[in-house]
Amino acid sequence: MIFPGIPVSKGIAVGTAFVYAPFKPRIGENLIRAEEAAAHNERFNAVVIKAGDELVALQKKMAREDEDKVGIFEAHQDLLTDIAIIDEILQLINEEHYSGEYAIETVYNKYIKLFSEMDDDLMRERCADFNDVKTRILRIWMGGSQKNLSEIDVPSIVFAHDLFPSDTAALDRKKVLAIVTEIGGNTSHSAILARSFEIPALLGCNGAMTAVKNGEMVIVDAIEGNLILESGPEDIGRYSEKQKAYTRSIEEMKRYRSVEPVMKDGRRIEVCLNIGGVSNDELAASLFTDGVGLFRSEFLFMSGKELPDENQQFQVYKKAAETFGTRQVILRTLDIGGDKTLECMDLPEEDNPFLGCRALRLCFQKVDVFKTQLRASLRASVYGNLALMFPMVGSMEDLYKAKSVLEECREELRREHIPFNETMHIGIMIEIPAIAFMAERVAAEVDFASIGTNDLCQYLMAVDRLNPNVASYYQNYHPAMFGLINLVAKAFLRENKTLSICGEMGGDPMALMAFIGMGIKKFSMSASNVAAVKRMITHFSLDEAVHVLEDIQRLDTAPEIEERLKDFGEKLYT
Ligand code: PEP
Ligand code: MG
Repeated sequence: MIFPGIPVSKGIAVGTAFVYAPFKPRIGENLIRAEEAAAHNERFNAVVIKAGDELVALQKKMAREDEDKVGIFEAHQDLLTDIAIIDEILQLINEEHYSGEYAIETVYNKYIKLFSEMDDDLMRERCADFNDVKTRILRIWMGGSQKNLSEIDVPSIVFAHDLFPSDTAALDRKKVLAIVTEIGGNTSHSAILARSFEIPALLGCNGAMTAVKNGEMVIVDAIEGNLILESGPEDIGRYSEKQKAYTRSIEEMKRYRSVEPVMKDGRRIEVCLNIGGVSNDELAASLFTDGVGLFRSEFLFMSGKELPDENQQFQVYKKAAETFGTRQVILRTLDIGGDKTLECMDLPEEDNPFLGCRALRLCFQKVDVFKTQLRASLRASVYGNLALMFPMVGSMEDLYKAKSVLEECREELRREHIPFNETMHIGIMIEIPAIAFMAERVAAEVDFASIGTNDLCQYLMAVDRLNPNVASYYQNYHPAMFGLINLVAKAFLRENKTLSICGEMGGDPMALMAFIGMGIKKFSMSASNVAAVKRMITHFSLDEAVHVLEDIQRLDTAPEIEERLKDFGEKLYT
């Protein structure tokens, strides 16, 4: 029997199933007598205290094992002690005379529904936290003891309808060979944690819980996206081999993570990192990269209900700068709008948000927010090699205006005698075709630029980058993309200014050959692409790269170019 699922954390596992069915409350709409309300109040308060104690214990455990995960339980503490939620529960008990358990269930469900209807994926995923806290409170209310995945004693494949963040965080990674759940997707908490633990995970595997038997031998193929049950010895043998081969290929690829990215002819290429925050997980790749080519600072603003103030931002930028020392960290100023919205900021509803008030345009409207970020970045600039990059620059006026706001901030800091690096490098993202065509003038005005191929492709092809209906028109390998990028590369070479690529194409080993042929020597990518990119770099020379570029310049269509790049790539490794 084969069940398809979403492979959110790649890998293959063969092992016995551990069916995890945690406490599931069944709550009726029970009323109590008025005189019982006081006792329910008291019991509720005691339950909240006990739940708080459990969360503190989990936080301590996480602080010892994986500090980054402590935040999950801190967030649960906030939900547990949220005054509005507690008031609503007590009101249902005291005024409407509902039983405590019904009041808890009702109020938490209200918030779960509210968050589940939000447009923002991140907000929707908060439902899992509400559910987690609700279940914890109800379990204690009903006298149940704490159960979690740390109880697994032999290495197993964990099956669950869904996993709460606390389940996943508490699991012992040596005992969990893989995770299979019936719901969840690529951006859910469980997926993020599974990836950071490097545990293969297949989510959204509909019907798996009813079909699987505890202790049964199962196969999880979290590469192709299949769960295989009732498998015979032949399947098990085949997948065990596949698993070994996959592990070998990952180990082999990982070896390239720490090699020097030097081409066959001795040319050194810079391989940098795209980050969205400064958690230990994100910064781990600092050990084998040349700096940060893109720090998407908006992620800092997307996680909280309030805007991070100057000091909070300063601490984060300082940590990034200090981690990389003399290596450059390019901090991109707030790129909000388009698909990225903020809970902490009221943004206008727009018909075409990708063509609307996005990134720098929004910063010009909300100058205070912009200035706070610029001040924090300037202050952090003395702690390392920090550079600033403006996104969505469409004209020279945009650039001049951004620079003049920056100058105001510098002036303020000088007046306040706050130190900052007067020579901090300033650059822009090239992601609007209009500014790409102005590359010559831009290059004279900036210290560096980075090509955002994700948006450049969207705006050049007139294709919404998120709309699956037109996905086939979103052609990274379109000849016009290479033509335009080449034009920008030539302009920056002439001006002797650094040009990098930090969109998804920056981590694409195939496209890399053509870009190096254009004279680009710096690429920024997510940590997972570093090994493959370095492997590619070490396998060819500039002459070969120029040959690849000249060859694809003769082709007319994206599929032809893709095919040709693939052929070149394959030849290099044989
Ligand atoms: C890009 O557009 O290529 C880019 C790197 O920025 P983002 O993906 O954050 O829009
Ligand atoms: Mg962009």
